[in-house]
Amino acid sequence: MKRPSPTIEDIIIPQDKQDKLDIMLKSNRSRAMKDLAIRNAAGGRCHRCELIPTKIVKYHLEGITLAERYCDSCFNQIKGEIA
Ligand SMILES: [Zn+2]
Repeated sequence: MKRPSPTIEDIIIPQDKQDKLDIMLKSNRSRAMKDLAIRNAAGGRCHRCELIPTKIVKYHLEGITLAERYCDSCFNQIKGEIA
């Protein structure tokens, strides 16, 4: 089944939050703590590579919205598929 064309939004992380997140991700905290930090800052990890996402791709289906997040490099790879 072909998906409908999605809407694309930027994920804006304020610089101070981004700085804290970078420090956190370089630390030896647990995976769960890092997951939570990324979720707080960006809503979740990149759908493909699990890095911090910069774009949110929303598919508006019948009554529900399916949101997928992508980092810059993954977004560039999927851009052609979703246009
Ligand atoms: Zn990615």
